[in-house]
Amino acid sequence: MRVFKFGGASVKDAEGIKNVYNVLQRVGYEDVLLVVSAMGKTTNALEVVIKDYFDKSSSLQSSVQEVKKYHNHILLDLFEDDTHSVFTAVKTQFNDLDYFLAHNKSPNYDFVYDQVVSYGELISTTILAHFMNHMGINTQWIDVRNFIKTDSNYRDATVDWDLTHKNISKNVKRKTLNITQGFLGSNENNFTTTLGREGSDYTAAIFAYCLNAESVTIWKDVPGVMNADPRYFENASLLNQISYREAIELAFYGATVIHPKTLQPLQRKEIPLYVKSFINPLLKGTSVSRGVNLEPYLPCFIVKRNQLLISLSSIDFSFIMEENISEIFSLFHEFKLKVNLIQNTAISFSVCVEDKFDNFNELNAILSKKFKVDFTPNVTLYTIRHFNDSAAQTVENGKKVVLKQISTETMQIVTSE
Ligand code: ADP
Ligand code: ASP
Ligand code: MG
Repeated sequence: MRVFKFGGASVKDAEGIKNVYNVLQRVGYEDVLLVVSAMGKTTNALEVVIKDYFDKSSSLQSSVQEVKKYHNHILLDLFEDDTHSVFTAVKTQFNDLDYFLAHNKSPNYDFVYDQVVSYGELISTTILAHFMNHMGINTQWIDVRNFIKTDSNYRDATVDWDLTHKNISKNVKRKTLNITQGFLGSNENNFTTTLGREGSDYTAAIFAYCLNAESVTIWKDVPGVMNADPRYFENASLLNQISYREAIELAFYGATVIHPKTLQPLQRKEIPLYVKSFINPLLKGTSVSRGVNLEPYLPCFIVKRNQLLISLSSIDFSFIMEENISEIFSLFHEFKLKVNLIQNTAISFSVCVEDKFDNFNELNAILSKKFKVDFTPNVTLYTIRHFNDSAAQTVENGKKVVLKQISTETMQIVTSE
């Protein structure tokens, strides 16, 4: 069996969905499981809904309406006949969302978040499955929440591998085209959970692992994994082959083309991962597998914007030692700040972090009682794997470097403009 993942960009409009059909025609769809994300930027749009819901904002109705309108346009473009059953199927999903927003009693933001954002994937897969049937391809629509079981850590749930493995290996039908949702799971009470933003790649890896799939292909708007994000580096080149290890490193440092959690399950069973263009599906793209580390061998650039550089130093000139560091890290963990770079000297300690959940102010109040805290918001973190002098120059040119760190394979540079 092969597992394919189509992300938001590939199903952002009616053309995109028709293109998925074309890709399947070209590469085959028997014995395939499709993992599909929410269409385009739907997850972001649903985040606005959630914010409006909690702010009790008067724009709640209009932000829900935006999401409905967007999907309705796509439906009208895909199906000439608006009495087609897909219209009722999607309407039912939206009615469920409205019902939830009207009747929910839980004040738990993360719980509400997962219940609401999940409609993005539930609706996209409903539309895609109906369209495939409309075009004559029989599909098996699967509610992923009956397969991927997780703990109750809403928004960043951890997979219960034993249960998930049992469900998937027993109940996924072979020799057909299965369509399911990326990013979602459910907990022991069957409430919806999510695996973290951009988590659909990970879903594909979970299915592949449990099905002993022959391969996973993630279909992208780029030719494959490149040595830099082509949005920011105009001379980015395609990497034909990378090892699991190199891919894990690139994803870990922030190459958003692959979600970092995807590689580990695949590597354990040596299931190859192909990253290919949904525009040119017959091109080879990138193969991530056991073997050559990096071919061609090029410096690889990763950019993370909107980072926060925090420097802590001791108030009384005492050393920053293990116990301080362990306390600082447990606070970062508690406040969900993701640490992307660490540098320490005897009496100071600098980190470059991502404050996705806007918790730094609260954390700063606690840290400031014990340390002198300096921070610079909005810095950019560049990571260069397999760096050389000219690669470093490319990054540093015209920018103010505020921190630099070098190890054998990796150079990290923090710039403030
Ligand atoms: P999806 O639609 O599957 O969610 P994403 O938008 O998350 O796809 O990922 C594809 C994007 O990843 C590309 O459009 C590209 O801008 C970005 N990207 C970042 N780093 C790389 C890289 N090293 N190689 C290719 N693309 C990259
Ligand atoms: N729709 C989710 C997101 O935008 C998951 C994904 O696309 O991978 O984060
Ligand atoms: Mg994505």
